[in-house]
Amino acid sequence: MRILLVNDDGILAPGLAALRAAVEDLGEVTVVAPDSPQSAAGRSITLHAPIACQRVHVDGRFWGYGVSGRPADCVKLAVRELMEAPPQLLLAGINPGANTGVNVFYSGTVAAAAEGALLGIASVAFSLDRGGEMDFHRAGRLCRWVLDALLAAGLAEGELVNVNLPALSADRPRGVKVVPQGTAAITESYRREEQAGGSALFQLNEQYEHGPQEQETDVEALAGGFITITPLKSDMTDRARLPRLQGHTWGLPPEGNG
Ligand code: MN
Repeated sequence: MRILLVNDDGILAPGLAALRAAVEDLGEVTVVAPDSPQSAAGRSITLHAPIACQRVHVDGRFWGYGVSGRPADCVKLAVRELMEAPPQLLLAGINPGANTGVNVFYSGTVAAAAEGALLGIASVAFSLDRGGEMDFHRAGRLCRWVLDALLAAGLAEGELVNVNLPALSADRPRGVKVVPQGTAAITESYRREEQAGGSALFQLNEQYEHGPQEQETDVEALAGGFITITPLKSDMTDRARLPRLQGHTWGLPPEGNG
């Protein structure tokens, strides 16, 4: 199996090394990852500027391609230019920090997997919640266990799955929950620093709270100590609202130079 391994924390991040070690026996792993931290890059790509790509070696061994772009750039570049044949599986992570709820929109880890899914590749994003031991070796084994189960359950071309591991402790994870993504907004805050001349600097605080969710979602299940599995898709169309807008009488647009 041809596997593309990506992340948003940089090609030398420990989470990526742990995921590689956990899946290497599954096939041929190609690493294409940003050469600098790109967390919260979301789905952004590099326009109007060239992307540098260099072969990275670790302990004398070819490790992968370091790319001066975003996670989504890495996936595009890997599929269009760097790999001899498209990957059959894309794995992103392991990200330090959960990617649940609306963080899914900001996450470079999930964005990399979503880009893979868009290009027709079965893609899985892996993240590890903070608050426990950041034991990437253990997390890697858990990711592999989840991946084996996902492959057994069926993971088709173009399908995207978001996996989050709870903060690790002796009695966690408590199990697996397949749950929808939470969509309640985050309550964030900023540190404000007044500057000379009347301007101010704002620094987003790393601590935040998810808003209350309408049903059990990835946010609560993860906080409860479960591994969360959420199938995602690119189609953001609100199909329930399509008929109302389609039923509206739109008429003809006005002339541009009227
Ligand atoms: Mn990250």
